[in-house]
Amino acid sequence: MTQPVASSSLLIVDDTPENIDLLVSMLALPGLQILAANSGERALALAERKQPDLILLDVMMPGIDGFETCRRLKAQAATADIPVVFVTALGDDVAKGFEAGGADYLAKPVRADEVRARVHHHLERRRLLRELQQVNAQLEQRVQERTRELVQLNRQLREEINERRFMQDRLSYLATHDFITRVYNRDALEEQVVRLLADTQRSDNGACLMLLDLARFRIVNEACGYIAGDELLRQVADMLAALCLPDDFIARLGGDRFALLCRRPPDQVMPLAQRIKGVFEGFEFVWDGRAYRIDARLAVIPIHRDFVSFDQLMTKADEAAYLVRRDGGPSVRLHRADVHEADARESVNWAYRLMDALKHQHFRVYFQRIQPLGERAAPGLRFETLVRLWDAETQRVVAPPAFIGPAERYQLIDQIDRWMLREVLGRLSASPSVLAGMSQVSVNLSAYSLRDPTLADTVLSQLQSCGFPPHKLCIEITESGAIVNLSAAKVFMETLKAHGVAFALDDFGTGFASFGYLKQLPFNSVKIDGAFVRDMDTDHANAAMVASMVQMADALALPVVAEFVERPALAERLKALGVPYAQGYLYHRPEEMTEAALQAALKPALP
Ligand code: C2E
Ligand code: CA
Ligand code: CA
Repeated sequence: MTQPVASSSLLIVDDTPENIDLLVSMLALPGLQILAANSGERALALAERKQPDLILLDVMMPGIDGFETCRRLKAQAATADIPVVFVTALGDDVAKGFEAGGADYLAKPVRADEVRARVHHHLERRRLLRELQQVNAQLEQRVQERTRELVQLNRQLREEINERRFMQDRLSYLATHDFITRVYNRDALEEQVVRLLADTQRSDNGACLMLLDLARFRIVNEACGYIAGDELLRQVADMLAALCLPDDFIARLGGDRFALLCRRPPDQVMPLAQRIKGVFEGFEFVWDGRAYRIDARLAVIPIHRDFVSFDQLMTKADEAAYLVRRDGGPSVRLHRADVHEADARESVNWAYRLMDALKHQHFRVYFQRIQPLGERAAPGLRFETLVRLWDAETQRVVAPPAFIGPAERYQLIDQIDRWMLREVLGRLSASPSVLAGMSQVSVNLSAYSLRDPTLADTVLSQLQSCGFPPHKLCIEITESGAIVNLSAAKVFMETLKAHGVAFALDDFGTGFASFGYLKQLPFNSVKIDGAFVRDMDTDHANAAMVASMVQMADALALPVVAEFVERPALAERLKALGVPYAQGYLYHRPEEMTEAALQAALKPALP
């Protein structure tokens, strides 16, 4: 019984001192402090000051009676919680005591064991309540602390989420945008087209893909460097953005090619194409105080239900771009469905014709002499071989520009190239005197053929089996082709070069090749595209291009061959620039040559 009362205090209120003494004697417990008051008023004052743990309260007292005292104790915040036990005489209204807020009552005459039991019970209850309150208070405090921490954590979390969201946005921006121009990239265009094609299947409201090629971009890139090239691309992107509607989707497809996806029918997109063309006609790119005119070539491809994939649309777009290029000059072209269908039919037709020609040996080898221009040329005669197709139906010879494209598209070009190699190496090595008089023979290879990793070994084993000296073979690769497959081209070239085979960079000036590429691939000579040469005596820009290409090749110690030399005036200008070789109708029109014809051609060269 000592435990709960230890360090507790008890207030006994009674107007009769004997009653107090009696209770005190009953409750003389160690650690229990006992206070006493002989009136309600004193009890109120004492309770407020001393905060006892329990009050034993007599009911009948002069002044305010026990019930009133209790009511007032309960009405005061400081004392409201202190349990009150009434000490009641017979006849007191116990119910009234509970109404006044009493916790319990002891009936007079009091019995010691009952008094102790009740007091003990209430003190313990009080102590437990106190502890509970304390625990609650602590809990409350901890809840508040945790809440504060949570708020803080929440804030941090929100910051982290925002940061992550920002990074995600940034990542998806980088994945969908061209980092030079900040317009969309090819992947983003693909996604957009796929969505549009799905929409078009449901309801065909009309949409177009517009392709834009910059015709003279490479001149800027070459003459002023990549930084200028990038700046030009950015200016073009800005111009497009300014001309387009907000919903039009602008993407850069790489190189100098841009695409616009417009969700409008062709009759609304063509005026935009014309406007873009007009802006380019008045546009000059200025760098280092010099102005460069940039031509734009535009093709508009209406998108309709027949398109089922992005690749299919891009194939059509490539065809359209090719037709614009073929037609030359700055132009806008609407690639009509009927036009492309006719083209596609023709192209499929070509696939059959080419397969047929391969089967029936309808290809022919033409030779064209390469003319040494001055003392810088190496001695001995050189020829380039060119493929021709014999069309049995029309009894006519077909030149390669008509069928190389379809042959590449239908993956027949490598068979044609392999046929040419076999034929040229076989025929020349079968005629030792011709081979002896020839210092070099060139064969053209398509970039598509270079993709086949077995080609290098095929060439080597062919050289070996016919006993053809590898250093007399030159392989011509066109600039754009070599660059598209840079790594494949490199492996192929290095393998063959190790055996003495030479390489010429063909059509130099038409693609994107620059000094850098020329250095990366082990070329032995450079062939300047005929388009720059044929009118260089009248066109200053082309003359300047030829001069700069010759300079570039000279810096790398690569001999130059100029193509399309049709008039003596051109030969003179090329000589003046120090160009060692020329090729063209002026000297020799490509022709099929028998062994006798080759021997006759070689005669002057033979000792
Ligand atoms: P290329 O290699 O640049 O060949 C030069 C082309 O210019 C040849 O056309 C030739 O006939 C033509 N040419 C030569 N001199 C003159 C001239 O003075 N004036 C004009 N206007 N043209 C001249 P061709 O034979 O029609 O060949 C065209 C292209 O087809 C070639 O361009 C080459 O890229 C490709 N090609 C030719 N034979 C083969 C081959 O066996 N395999 C592959 N993959 N491509 C070939
Ligand atoms: Ca060539
Ligand atoms: Ca060429």
